Parts: sequence; structure tokens; C-alpha cells
Amino acid sequence: MAENLNVYQATQVIIEHALTKLGFSSAMVELLKEPMRVMTVRIPIRMDDDTIKVFTGYRAQHNDAVGPTKGGVRFHPNVTEDEVKALSIWMSLKCGIVDLPYGGGKGGIICDPRNMSFRELERLSRGYVRAISQIVGPTKDIPAPDVMTNSQIMAWMMDEYSRIREFDAPNFITGKPIVLGGSHGRETATAKGVTIMINQALAKKGIPLQDARVVIQGFGNAGSYLAKFMHETGAKVIGISDAHGALYNKDGLDIEYLLDRRDSFGSVTNLFKDTITNKELLELECDILVPAAIENQITGENASRIRAPIVVEAANGPTTMEATRILTDRGILIVPDVLASAGGVVVSYFEWVQNNQGYYWTEAEVHARLQEVMEKGFENVYNVHITRKVDMRLAAYMVGVRKMADAVRFRGWV
Ligand code: GLU
Repeated sequence: MAENLNVYQATQVIIEHALTKLGFSSAMVELLKEPMRVMTVRIPIRMDDDTIKVFTGYRAQHNDAVGPTKGGVRFHPNVTEDEVKALSIWMSLKCGIVDLPYGGGKGGIICDPRNMSFRELERLSRGYVRAISQIVGPTKDIPAPDVMTNSQIMAWMMDEYSRIREFDAPNFITGKPIVLGGSHGRETATAKGVTIMINQALAKKGIPLQDARVVIQGFGNAGSYLAKFMHETGAKVIGISDAHGALYNKDGLDIEYLLDRRDSFGSVTNLFKDTITNKELLELECDILVPAAIENQITGENASRIRAPIVVEAANGPTTMEATRILTDRGILIVPDVLASAGGVVVSYFEWVQNNQGYYWTEAEVHARLQEVMEKGFENVYNVHITRKVDMRLAAYMVGVRKMADAVRFRGWV
């Protein structure tokens, strides 16, 4: 399959393939291969130097047949409309795989938070909510954190929405600070979910977790907590990376030291002279490779040199279609992004349920329920992979889109 498709086009190809395999009509494909709604907004912000800068933001809502749409908002200079659209479809798939009563949504603002002050970020977060307020809400579309957004940004957004509506609306957004109705375990949820997926994959391959060698690309929210959990369970984290480079030690890295010394954007390689490249990191011999950074990291070019029997995708879209085919043909077990990284939205759902009920759970309850939901998601995808003889990514898409397509049909839309 063509390598030059962007993530949105590649997603559309697989969605079409999945719906056709499941026997749905071409009208269903037409409806679900694009988001039902995409809003583009221009947000004028007064900067600290008193100039006005105008930012562009997006909110894409894939489909709301199952329930309100749900998904994060990213702040990044490379945000594009196509990327946000693809990510909204991926959110639908994640929610479908772990059986949440949501469709997918996603938002993004073209900006670089690393070069913005605290107050500029506050004004931008509030401006974005004012701009999209007509199409979002606790029973319409529920935002959350994503790349370079955090609980403080969620707090500003929740406060702005509550002011507009003139009532307190903690259920408008998830990933909030605990004191504002956030859930225990939300901060670590994506990494916990990935840990559960690693255990499932290791069991299928018959590899014991104790002493398994793990390589993690990325040291942001998912990558750094995952390194911590892997280290705590006795696995050996032999490689990690940040945006600038990578670290390798065949006997295992000192994860506690790295966690202690990283800066707020996850940079650690600047502490060392002896580094390897991100490219070399991916090709290290190990038992589990976890791309937890950005898109298109494992491609047709390097897939044949990957030396891990298991690839667990904690990032969104790290493996191209061509690479998926090469890895699958080589017998490498892929746990695809839409399954592996669903832990975040699962605990977001728990947060929203707690906000709706005004009754809060303990961290142990959150973890136990997350474990149950993720294990079921893995089993469902793995069973379709075996019984329908399709690769793990197509299996995940088939499981992820089925409920939505059924809901569309029952509503009589298609
Ligand atoms: N941004 C996260 C994701 O891509 C979480 C979304 C959410 O919690 O709604 O899955």
C-alpha cells in the first residue's frame, strides 16, 4: 500500500476495509470515513508584550450515533486539519474497542506552548473554549488532554465553559486536577493501559515479564510513566528517547534518576554525552518495542530491521501501513495504537461518570476497572485477528467500528 498517504488517508483506507469486511454498505463507508463535523476557529489572543496574535484551532467530531463525542485537544506547531480529523476517527475506534458509550472527537491549536507564558496559555485555552462552545458540552462533545496539554489547561477550559453556561460543569472536560473533579489514576492511565497490553502480548508470546528487555521511544506522559511501571515490575528498560536523542544501556537504565531529572517537556538526553539516535533506538534488540512519541516512526524503510517480537503502540499512528504488513509477515505481534493507548480515554470515561454521579472512586477501584476493560479489549481484538485471519490493526478497526456502524443502522441514518 502506498507509503505516501498521510495519516488521515491511511485511516480512511483501513476504515473502508474494516466496514467492507464486516459486510456494511458503501453508504456506511461514505458516512464513517470522514468526521460528521469539523469546526475551524480563529482565536485572537493578547500576548504579554501587548501585541495581538491570531491562532488557528480545530475541533473534529467523527460520529455521535453511539453517544457524545470524546477526545483530547493538542497544542502543537504541526497541528493540521487532516491530523485532527484522523485523530477524531481514531478516538471512535478506541472507544469502540473498549466499549465506551462515546463517538470520537479531537481538537487542536496550532501553537508552540514551549514558547508561551503561563498567562498566554491561559488566554489561549479560554479563547478556544469560547470559540467552540456552541458545539461542545457534557452530553455533546467532551474534550480532554492530549499532546502538550495538561490538567491546568483542562481546569481553565472547564472554568471558561462553566462561566459561559452559568453553572458549574465539571463533566464538560476530563483530565482535570483532582480538586476540580478529576479522577484518581487519570494522569497515569495511558501508561497503565499500555502495561496491561504488554502483559497480554507477553503471555501470547510466552515471554516472562521478569527481565524482559523494553525499549521505549518517547519520555512524555505515556513513555515516562510506562518506564516507571516497567521498572517497578522487574522488566529491564534498556532504551528510552526524547525529541533530541536516545539513551541505551544493555543492563538497564536508571529510570528513577531519569524521572527525577527530566524537564517539564520530558527532555533527558541533554544530561548525557553518550547518546544514540532515535533511529538506532528503534532497531535495538529487545523483547518489547514501545513507540510512545509521534507518528510514522516505523516505516517501509526500517520495518525489516526491527528486532523486537512485540511492538506495542503507545503513540498515535507510529507505524505506517507498509510497515504493519512487513512486521506482521515477520511474525511480530503488533498491539495497535487504537487498542494500546485506549487507557487514557477509559479513565476519562470513569472521570465523566464520577462527575455525573457526584460520587468519587478510589485509585484501586479505577485500576481494577481499567484492567478489566483493557483485557477484554485485547481479547476481542486478538480473537478477530485469529478467527478472521487479519492483521492486528485491521482486527482492531473491525472491533472498533462495529458498534458505531450498528448504532448508525439502528438509528436509520444509513
Ligand atoms: N488524548 C487521549 C487520547 O488520545 C485521551 C482522550 C480522552 O481522554 O478523551 O486517547
